[in-house]
Amino acid sequence: MAGILVVAEAAGDGVSASSLELLGAAQQLSSQGGGAVSAFVAGQAGANALLQHGAATVYVGTNAALASNMAEVLQPAVQAAIEQSGADIVLIAQSSLGRDLAPALAFANKTGAAMDCVELKINGGRLRVTRAAFGGNARAEHTWKSPLQIATVKGKSFDAPEAGAGGGETKTIDAAGTARITVLGISKAESTGIKLEDAAVVVAGGRGLGDGAAFKMLEDLAGTMPAGAVGASRAACDLGWYPPSQQVGLTGKTVSPNLYIAVAISGASQHMAGMAGSKNIVAINKDPDANMVKVSKFAIIDDFKKVVPALIEEIKKLG
Ligand SMILES: Cc1cc2nc3c(=O)[nH]c(=O)nc-3n(C[C@H](O)[C@H](O)[C@H](O)COP(=O)(O)OP(=O)(O)OC[C@H]3O[C@@H](n4cnc5c(N)ncnc54)[C@H](O)[C@@H]3O)c2cc1C
Repeated sequence: MAGILVVAEAAGDGVSASSLELLGAAQQLSSQGGGAVSAFVAGQAGANALLQHGAATVYVGTNAALASNMAEVLQPAVQAAIEQSGADIVLIAQSSLGRDLAPALAFANKTGAAMDCVELKINGGRLRVTRAAFGGNARAEHTWKSPLQIATVKGKSFDAPEAGAGGGETKTIDAAGTARITVLGISKAESTGIKLEDAAVVVAGGRGLGDGAAFKMLEDLAGTMPAGAVGASRAACDLGWYPPSQQVGLTGKTVSPNLYIAVAISGASQHMAGMAGSKNIVAINKDPDANMVKVSKFAIIDDFKKVVPALIEEIKKLG
């Protein structure tokens, strides 16, 4: 196949974590016959990070206007990268930029964009993607009839490749579009402690906790382990028991920790959509038939009020 272009987003001294995950996805596709992996990013700092993580060619947007990170400003530069690379697959993160840029590129190239994909593979010489459908109750697979295949990828669906020696090349692109809207301000949601998406251990609570105060017990459990964070089901967030920023699932965050401890969460498909990639799932639930129990590696069938304090005590003994 003709190749894969990753549209990366500059962040700090490099690129966003989701951009590196896109490179991981692209490398998987490349190993299935998808062709060479190239990338586009605004600014040289991001290009260095992409080369270190294995991109063969990086198209560097040099126009200062690209720093706005707005789709209509970036589109001509990304279009030039698509044409120069000859890629027939374009991967973009499901970020606020990706949500705008992917459909705009698809329209301009008379093709379709598959949004929020969680799986990608090469099948019969074409890209085939999987994404949630019908509010997370089903999974849909898509492929393209048109030559150019554009997909946005849900965060945490792929691992970022390890950094190496690099060895690829850079090419510059000076194009930029004009913004028709003005961003008046950006406000960031404040959060303390380890970010849910970066936590190695997530202890998540659901409606079965009975009230918001019980989350204190989950915070204590998460605190016994390094890089532990607390998440919640949508039911618990909707009840005001825990902040929506900590919601896991289809309409919340996607996490893939080493250990996911689901406390009093039934395991609805929309919740699973955000944590099914966890390496080890432990369910604490009164109901042996709960879906979360069925998908878990280990399950403790009992009242969480008995189980969680006992777990905390035992983990503390381990030092
Ligand atoms: C379009 C759409 C998007 C959605 N997005 C999301 C999303 O992003 N994230 C999400 O989580 N949900 C989402 N939902 C909601 C989802 O369908 C479920 O309603 C929700 O996940 C249920 O939350 P829960 O498991 O906490 O509650 P419940 O389903 O009520 O489960 C509570 C569990 O607690 C157990 N339990 C009760 N008491 C105890 C006890 N004392 N000790 C141990 N266990 C106990 C019960 O056995 C049960 O399994 C979405 C729904 C829709 C329609």
